[in-house]
Amino acid sequence: MHDVLLVGGGAVGLSIALELARRGKRVHVVERGVLGGESSWAGAGIVPPGRFDKQDSPLVQLGGLSAEMHVELAERLRRDTGIDNGYRVTGALYLAPNKEHRAHLEEEVAPFRAQNQICRTLDGAALNNIEPALAGALDDGRVAAGYHIPQEAQLRNPRHVRALVAACAKLGVTLTENAPVEEWIVAGDRVREVRTVQGSFAAEQFCLSTGAWSRQLGEQLGVRLAVKPIRGQIALLNPQSAVIRGIVYYGPRYFVGRDDGRVLVGSTLEDVGFDRRTTASVIRELLDFAVGLAPQLASADVEKTWAGLRPHSADGLPYLGRVPHLTNTFVAAGHYRWGLALSPATALTMTQLMLGEPTAVDMSVFRVGR
Ligand SMILES: Cc1cc2nc3c(=O)[nH]c(=O)nc-3n(C[C@H](O)[C@H](O)[C@H](O)COP(=O)(O)OP(=O)(O)OC[C@H]3O[C@@H](n4cnc5c(N)ncnc54)[C@H](O)[C@@H]3O)c2cc1C
Repeated sequence: MHDVLLVGGGAVGLSIALELARRGKRVHVVERGVLGGESSWAGAGIVPPGRFDKQDSPLVQLGGLSAEMHVELAERLRRDTGIDNGYRVTGALYLAPNKEHRAHLEEEVAPFRAQNQICRTLDGAALNNIEPALAGALDDGRVAAGYHIPQEAQLRNPRHVRALVAACAKLGVTLTENAPVEEWIVAGDRVREVRTVQGSFAAEQFCLSTGAWSRQLGEQLGVRLAVKPIRGQIALLNPQSAVIRGIVYYGPRYFVGRDDGRVLVGSTLEDVGFDRRTTASVIRELLDFAVGLAPQLASADVEKTWAGLRPHSADGLPYLGRVPHLTNTFVAAGHYRWGLALSPATALTMTQLMLGEPTAVDMSVFRVGR
């Protein structure tokens, strides 16, 4: 018998499982497909800078606490599993493609300014120094204005989820793959077990962490979770040398330069249901953007393209809390564009909720059934 059963083994479910297991709980993760194989694998791995401040909104607190926790988490995962999740503070450039985008650029950096994060106005010399591939872009019209946020970080998603899985396994978490949960067996005000093709699994407590797929499973539990999939497509380029060094936002598009020279080019926000295909028109658009902004990428190999489904929630906040009419069942879903970044503090606060402890962040705005 397990203490807690998590339905869905993405970064959110695995992070909660790891935190609970560190507290000595017997944990079971039941995953429909491959652990960490959906949105958590597909994302870009950007971790915006932040610090924990009780004066901020609960969502900003969750981000600030997570930003602080990522540093220790990466070290711990490396020590405990031997896997480097690729967490690096590489900094980010926020660039306006044209004058019309300037106001939007100010909105993008406002949260960093509010938190007293370093936010430097870019001039030609700084741009040349930080991203030599973009030298001259402020003069030749490719870029109208920009800021440098030196504390922004990134991690490598496939490595991060692999490290989470290994860390969970090391602490004795039961990991069941290829077992879609099809039904909740409820008795009174408690879920007793979940039914899957591999049999039924019981536990004392349950947590729904099924990302973009949470709405349907919530309905079966009698709770409304306004979560839907929003597709994002990505192209991975290998220029065989370091062309892009850090993160570069350019209007709705971005580069993430990895430390092995690869460059991730993203992304899109597409409301197309549960369709994880990549499409020729979008990939062409991403490649046009990449080569237009950094012409040196024209000869790069296109190593891979993929798409993932972000769990978008209607009001922009994740659902984090207990299902009101069930005493032993919780939800952690709907992190949309920032589930990797927010996963450490999500895991901490969900663990605190499930263990009946005071939470580091006021969770009332995230409540289930709102
Ligand atoms: C292109 C793209 C770029 C992104 N970039 C970033 C970024 O830079 N930074 C950032 O922080 N975030 C980013 N994100 C968002 C981030 O990836 C997500 O918010 C995060 O992965 C959500 O994690 P999750 O565990 O909730 O969902 P998922 O990783 O989707 O995991 C949910 C799991 O539940 C499983 N499941 C579903 N139904 C069932 C069932 N019936 N039974 C059992 N299991 C089930 C699924 O198979 C899946 O493995 C990006 C996403 C995309 C697509």
